[in-house]
Amino acid sequence: MKGWFNNLFQGRQGMDELSKSMFWWGLACLVMSLLLAALLNGVLSAPFSWIGLLLIILCFVRAFSRQLGQREMENRAYLAFWERRRRQFEMRKERFRQRKDFRFFKCPGCGTILRVPRGKGKIHINCRCGYVLYRRT
Ligand SMILES: [Zn+2]
Repeated sequence: MKGWFNNLFQGRQGMDELSKSMFWWGLACLVMSLLLAALLNGVLSAPFSWIGLLLIILCFVRAFSRQLGQREMENRAYLAFWERRRRQFEMRKERFRQRKDFRFFKCPGCGTILRVPRGKGKIHINCRCGYVLYRRT
């Protein structure tokens, strides 16, 4: 039985992180659709069930795909997306923690976040890219 299962995925992508989350989101959509059907007279129930089915079908299409390079790229893009979101969130948390002592400005030139101490009045802030901001701290 175990051997049969392993053969099934021979040379195929199998369930990677993207497929797994598609599966769980798909299932969540189906549950949502059932809840909407039961509680809200089916308002928006159909779109949720279609999205749910689509996600689950796509998850299996990816899992059984033989184009490993392509699937690997999709998975990597997906993981990179969440890693970016996680880092943004961490940075926001850090800025919030330091908000009493520092002010943060976004450089209009390159988008870098610049940190300056609070309470220095109006000062020039030099960014690494050469851009100079004139801001009140
Ligand atoms: Zn800059």
